[in-house]
Amino acid sequence: MSLKKGFIHVYTGNGKGKTTAAIGLGIRAIGDGLKVIMIQFMKGRRYSEIDVLQHIKNFTVVQFGRDEFVSKEKPEQIDIDLAQKGLLYAKDVVQKGGYDLVILDEINVAVDFNLITSTDVLELLEKKPETLELVLTGRYASPEIIKHADIVSEILEIKHPYQKGVQSRKGIDW
Ligand code: ATP
Ligand code: MG
Repeated sequence: MSLKKGFIHVYTGNGKGKTTAAIGLGIRAIGDGLKVIMIQFMKGRRYSEIDVLQHIKNFTVVQFGRDEFVSKEKPEQIDIDLAQKGLLYAKDVVQKGGYDLVILDEINVAVDFNLITSTDVLELLEKKPETLELVLTGRYASPEIIKHADIVSEILEIKHPYQKGVQSRKGIDW
């Protein structure tokens, strides 16, 4: 079973809930028999969701990143290489058409940090097969990408315990 027409989503903004929203959509899609892959940029850590998702039939997760923070001002060459690799992998997955839903997690941040260009991403979006649903997550989505997308949601931070000095929590934030 596959979708008749696939749309392009962007989940952006500085509030919490973009990656988890994309995972939630992935779970829903799986429930209807769709095949899902989540390609993560700038992430190499075994986040709490990774192992559980790997156990779900038809939900694939692939990471392209280190278990380190990337410097926006001066990214390491390895960070650039990994993001470029992730982009090539994503292009391949999109073109081969083995999935119904492709999630490109934190790809907007990879563009914002200049690890890849928005032109690269637009090229990928233009090659999207008609029936493929695509989700791009991450803060600071570029205006060009937003223009090209069909569903754009901005999660706005109203409050976050981080503002009061609460550190990120395992099982909730990662
Ligand atoms: P989640 O992974 O929980 O859905 P997210 O994808 O919206 O969050 P990112 O922008 O990718 O969040 O940020 C990565 C990390 O920062 C996550 O651990 C997330 O929980 C945390 N975070 C998200 N929003 C905020 C915020 N406004 N202040 C502080 N930390 C945040
Ligand atoms: Mg995220």
